[in-house]
Amino acid sequence: MTDRPPIDPDETVDLLQELVRIPSPYFEEREIAAFVHDWLDERGLNPAYHHVSEPEITGYEGDNVLARLEGSDPDAPTLLLDAHVDTVRPVEDWEEDPCSGRIEDGRLYGQGACDMKGGLAAVMVAFEALAERDLAGDVLLAAVVDEEGPYGLGTDRLVRDGYADDCDAAIVTEPGPVLARGEIENPALVLGARGRFLYDVTVRGEAAHGSQPERGVNAVVDAGRVADALAGIDVGSHPKLGEGSVCPLLLEGGSQTLSVPERARLMVDRHVVVGETEADARADAEEAIAALDLDSEVEVGFREAPSPDVRYGPYVTDEDHPLVTALRSATRSVAGVDPAIGYFESVGDFNYLGDRADLPTVILGPDGENVHAAGEFVYTDEVVEVAEVVVAAATDFLG
Ligand SMILES: [Zn+2]
Repeated sequence: MTDRPPIDPDETVDLLQELVRIPSPYFEEREIAAFVHDWLDERGLNPAYHHVSEPEITGYEGDNVLARLEGSDPDAPTLLLDAHVDTVRPVEDWEEDPCSGRIEDGRLYGQGACDMKGGLAAVMVAFEALAERDLAGDVLLAAVVDEEGPYGLGTDRLVRDGYADDCDAAIVTEPGPVLARGEIENPALVLGARGRFLYDVTVRGEAAHGSQPERGVNAVVDAGRVADALAGIDVGSHPKLGEGSVCPLLLEGGSQTLSVPERARLMVDRHVVVGETEADARADAEEAIAALDLDSEVEVGFREAPSPDVRYGPYVTDEDHPLVTALRSATRSVAGVDPAIGYFESVGDFNYLGDRADLPTVILGPDGENVHAAGEFVYTDEVVEVAEVVVAAATDFLG
């Protein structure tokens, strides 16, 4: 027996199609934010724009859209529903309009269909359905900008302006199993994610005539040795999140003339698990570099960020948290099965909520394929199912 909350599948899929038809690569979300705002406004759900400004590095100006359902009991918990409205920039390999929203065999195609306009449509219709219920706790819906950009500025601003402070837990409807480690399938709850730090290594050698390399210190040669050493760092592991990882992403430098190159630069990705900090990542890198005993001067630096707390730390949500319990029983009642439990390999806005804001955070979202690639699609029945699970779990969790 299943007990399905009142989500209209046609309305949900129509909404998803409209969202996919609005191009919204990160930093260009004005049109889709207005659409989400007006959709909520037409239903009497009192949306408000929440300005996001980052003048220093990106020059970005945009708006999240927020809406709140006030519960009857100020002591009851508050649940945050967070979904990003932006997508990656459409890739070139699409053989059709990346904003087509074409539906075939239960799949809806488009850039961002799975990541994460499916999840956005699901929380919008779930929020509309929750507005019809008498809940003790509050629901805060946050349709945020710039998740796919370099700093996740929309959710960063949400956290920075204190919106997470009065929340007790968060649901993020990012695509689920497709981005999780291991083989899991929907229905699934993703209860944590690794963290990620990006750092630069600058290598300064000493120039000399290129015909006499022994008279200089070759920064390119040393940078290659550094890349090799960093890739071999002994990283941490965690019972749920698995192993950390190190991946040198970029190596540049050198000389166009016949000179021993005096400068090179490496950019390195480090994924970490719970228990590893930015300071640990730096110490590991510095130790590996020191062990090489190079003649070049080598320095490790972390990338420029809008502020020092803009970082993707790792987190794990307790499997016994009341929201997880509510989501488990909602999944059983809607889908008739227990959800799989998984963890993410990479990072997103959920790290800001789960780590920075210290909110118990659960990811559950409709699955699809080709995320961030040509031919991206989402399964429409999973979009509807996620909306139903969110309504049932929120009703249970908020009392
Ligand atoms: Zn996403």
